[in-house]
Amino acid sequence: MITRRQFLSGVLSERKPESGASEQSWRLVARIGKSCLAFDNTVCHVCVDVCVPAAIRLSPRIGGAPIPQVDNQKCSGCGVCVVPCPAQAITLVHPAATSR
Ligand code: SF4
Ligand code: SF4
Repeated sequence: MITRRQFLSGVLSERKPESGASEQSWRLVARIGKSCLAFDNTVCHVCVDVCVPAAIRLSPRIGGAPIPQVDNQKCSGCGVCVVPCPAQAITLVHPAATSR
């Protein structure tokens, strides 16, 4: 509960996550799933093209289409890449979930 005075002075915009959680724990990153067209050897770079911070790069591989890989340090979790993906292969997850 905040007072009207606190609200008007902009306290809301400065509130920290509750329960002592750090801002880092709320951060999400893109994860590319197995439905990505590259795993069917179809070359696609839609996600690479739409990602403004260039957090996705195509990793070349012998005998197959390059596989997109997300750099968790660069990914802001903006979600811009989710909808344009023609295979609905991208989800936003906690960074710890990307290693599973
Ligand atoms: S846009 Fe989707 S299907 Fe295309 S490379 Fe990225 S994850 Fe794969
Ligand atoms: S969520 Fe945003 S920053 Fe992260 S890979 Fe997708 S478009 Fe790039």
